[in-house]
Amino acid sequence: MRHKSWLGIILFLFTTLATGGIALADGETLPARDPKQPIDEAYTAKIRKYTTAPYFSSPLVDYLPASNTVPTPEVVLGDVAGAPGILPYAEDVYKYMRLLEKATLRVKVVSIGTTEEGREMIAVAVSSEANLKNLEQNRQRLAKLADPRTIHLDDAEADKLVAESVPVYYITGTIHSPETGAPTALMELAYRLAVDESPYVREIRDGVITLITPVVEVDGRDRMVDLYRWHLAHPKDFYPPLIYWGKYVAHDNNRDAMGMTLKLTQNVLNTYLGWNAQVLHDLHESVPYLYDNTVGDGPYNAWVDPILVDEWEMIGARNVADLTKFGMPGVFTHGDFDTWSPGYLMFLAAMHNGISRLYETFGNAGADTRERTLQPDEYARTWFRPNPPLPKTLWSQRNNNNYEETGLLTSLHYFNENKRLFLKNFYLKGKRSIQKPSAEGPAAYILPADDPRASVQADLLRIMLKQHVEMSRATNAFQVTLPVKKEKKPSKATDTEEKPKPSPTTRDFPAGSYIIRMDQPYSRVADTLLDYQYWSPEDPQTTPYDDTAWTLGELFGVQVTRVTDPKVLSVPMEHVTELHASGGVNGEGSMFAIDNHAEPALASLRYRLKDASIDAAEEPFESGGHKFSRGTFLIHGVSRSELDVTTKSLGLHAVALAAAPGVKTHPVRAPRIAYVHTWISTQTEGWWRLAFDNLQIPYDYMSTQALAKIPDLNAKYDVILFPPVTGSASSHAIVHGTPTTWGNPLPWLNTPETPNLVGKNDSTPDMRPGLGWDGVAKLQTFVQKGGVLLTATDTSQFAVAIGLASGVTFSNSEKMKIVGSIVGTRLVDAASPIAYGYEEKVSAYCDDGPIFSVTSILGARRRHLGPEMKSRPTGRGTKDDPDFVIGRPASEIPEEPEKELWEAPQPTDDQRFNNPRVIPTANRARVILRYADSKDLLISGLVENGNEIAQHPAVLDVPSGAGHLVLFSINPVYRGETENTYSLVLNTLLNFDSLNAGRKDADQK
Ligand SMILES: [Zn+2]
Repeated sequence: MRHKSWLGIILFLFTTLATGGIALADGETLPARDPKQPIDEAYTAKIRKYTTAPYFSSPLVDYLPASNTVPTPEVVLGDVAGAPGILPYAEDVYKYMRLLEKATLRVKVVSIGTTEEGREMIAVAVSSEANLKNLEQNRQRLAKLADPRTIHLDDAEADKLVAESVPVYYITGTIHSPETGAPTALMELAYRLAVDESPYVREIRDGVITLITPVVEVDGRDRMVDLYRWHLAHPKDFYPPLIYWGKYVAHDNNRDAMGMTLKLTQNVLNTYLGWNAQVLHDLHESVPYLYDNTVGDGPYNAWVDPILVDEWEMIGARNVADLTKFGMPGVFTHGDFDTWSPGYLMFLAAMHNGISRLYETFGNAGADTRERTLQPDEYARTWFRPNPPLPKTLWSQRNNNNYEETGLLTSLHYFNENKRLFLKNFYLKGKRSIQKPSAEGPAAYILPADDPRASVQADLLRIMLKQHVEMSRATNAFQVTLPVKKEKKPSKATDTEEKPKPSPTTRDFPAGSYIIRMDQPYSRVADTLLDYQYWSPEDPQTTPYDDTAWTLGELFGVQVTRVTDPKVLSVPMEHVTELHASGGVNGEGSMFAIDNHAEPALASLRYRLKDASIDAAEEPFESGGHKFSRGTFLIHGVSRSELDVTTKSLGLHAVALAAAPGVKTHPVRAPRIAYVHTWISTQTEGWWRLAFDNLQIPYDYMSTQALAKIPDLNAKYDVILFPPVTGSASSHAIVHGTPTTWGNPLPWLNTPETPNLVGKNDSTPDMRPGLGWDGVAKLQTFVQKGGVLLTATDTSQFAVAIGLASGVTFSNSEKMKIVGSIVGTRLVDAASPIAYGYEEKVSAYCDDGPIFSVTSILGARRRHLGPEMKSRPTGRGTKDDPDFVIGRPASEIPEEPEKELWEAPQPTDDQRFNNPRVIPTANRARVILRYADSKDLLISGLVENGNEIAQHPAVLDVPSGAGHLVLFSINPVYRGETENTYSLVLNTLLNFDSLNAGRKDADQK
């Protein structure tokens, strides 16, 4: 068989060369259509008509080959791909792909899952009949290359598989819904790959399996098409911005490749790995005209294999060269983007031994043809962009489709030309991942069985399973040797004294501890997510593109030990495929206690056990030989069996107690929650919603507009949650929204033109109005009358700006740079219910958080730039001596009350005199958590000039009237990655009517 097929290939090559295929001197085929294949004249004429200048096209896409049997995209679109005025819904794109599948054996469509709102996601495979017929055999070959353990890391065997295998190149479109061009480009690309008989395209079809997910964010695509239809129906009006994309998040759907919380991320990864693809190429639109940002700029992610970096350079450079030779301006591969964070969808490939790629082409956010004027930095000629885009040009969706298709076709062709190299690299990257323990290390990561936060540990490990990381559990207790910390070299050359070598330390782990072995093909992703990050303040890259840190052990607040000792790999262990934290009830008694370790599952429990009575212990206590921490749940009024079932499903441990412990308690209630969003952005709050839904905590979701219309907020709600808007929204924008004095209403409603707009989220006849002054007054009344308002980052600044937080001021940083980093915070008031379950040190996500200060006098401001100058004035004596004044007895200098930076300074007697602005102690802000000292601030990522925020409050409880304002400077709920700080929010909710518990007001005057 093999000999025969080789002969076939040789014959085929001869035939190709003899019948008009144009080959380069080295045998590489040039793009040129097959003169024997007729073209679709009408379609081709429209392509040319909609292309605004000949140089915005290429010999690959300036015609469409005709077929008697296979329908063109026109049958579904009613016009050609990229035609003005036409944006298909996902359903229409699928319809066309399935028509292709029916018409040709070169196309196969598979369903790859659904979205949060239940819409289908698909993948379309295009290749030769033979390749699609032999998919399964090919998949098995690729699976062996993907997991070199199956062939015992045998390079010769790998070479055989490489020679026989057809690689898979996976293309994903329109994850970002306002970036609208990809679906039509991919419809036409699928047609071309299936139909075009030119040697150039035929080589791709015979040599590669092109896999296409034409719409990644399906929910957002349908909304975007709705809005575009509304725009066509109301051409003179402003049309509403796309406030919701998917159910939860907008642009951040492309930052989920670490947390894996969204269906689209899970579906794409399962498809990518299920097909054992070599490339994941994600299509975006924002930069003129084609920025292949695969190569981008430094710093590169420190965990990717250098082999991948070479591949980026090879493919990127060649891609630019090919399009430049076609005369297409504005194609480049270096530019604004660092390849540090692994949060992008394309990075699923980089983390799983493949090749990640990303295009930014130029979209018009719709299918209008528009005059586009660029910014000087966009059209400037630079070293990496010798042929820049034009300063001003008429631009069409067809131009965009031409660039996307030309870029993809040349990429596919180059990939096919070099597929043996790329397949071998694919195998090598897998092999080197398996060899990690004996090469760069570590050997494993261990998560101990006795971690007190078992349910959170399980959540973290579930991320690993979603990432297809193999996991094991030790069947016995074991010990590992920890690396010896290197001693710093003596500073003086003369100091040659031999220091005794510190003996190696060991650590014991109990049976049942989780071991993530690094001798597996996907060790890279586990290593990346569990390791620490360091971004130097001296890095030449001064504007990190996204977060600089993501260390999941810190962000989840669970113990993770990086082990280099290879002996850990021979510990007896079993494979784990499903994760469930153990739970249930132990002991005998009629009441039950659940120790508090700030596990978010406690909040779920409170809402699930609606009729049970739950109290929180205000102090630590001991009972029946168990030690319980402050905040422990004391539960009665529920049957043992019901509690057993509930705690088992939540991974919580309850202990039955013989008698109620003699400790002060208060009730833990399930509050009625108003959850507030703006019509400015729902991006950042979306992550909060997702967390609440996963925890099954109910809330009423409403806009600032709707809140302002509720006559009596206190009658309906106990807590108002106002999560961050963007992180940096102005108070002006929150109050006033978008201007209403000009322009037209911007409805977010289901109408005949917009049937998909309102999903499971919210609606309004006009998105423009904000909270308004009525709403501000409503919020003030709500808090004054005893309600709790919880805010974070920009909404905290807003709450301070409208005067809800007496004695709290904020300032913005001057030189500080904390860019999506993990910072240290310290518990200041462990007796506050907000702090229940936390230890003294809490790692938190911070992104240049607002710098809060507390004062004891209204209107006073505190310095925030470190300690005040306390040097003595010029005078007699030594530096530490008192000064004296000639001719009078020495005066005693009054002792200044020592106050920490996070505390409100006590007013002096003079400041108190006849001063109604002095805030009574009981009304002063209570600092729950503060940022760590400057030297302890950085845990992971970039912290520059951290002294500006060091020691300042991170979480504050401010009494206001009969209620409370709880302010966060950190963002505690973010991208499914910060479970460690969720309970700071959840504790506020569950203790909403007892927030003053444990408050020390002894010094009250
Ligand atoms: Zn994008």
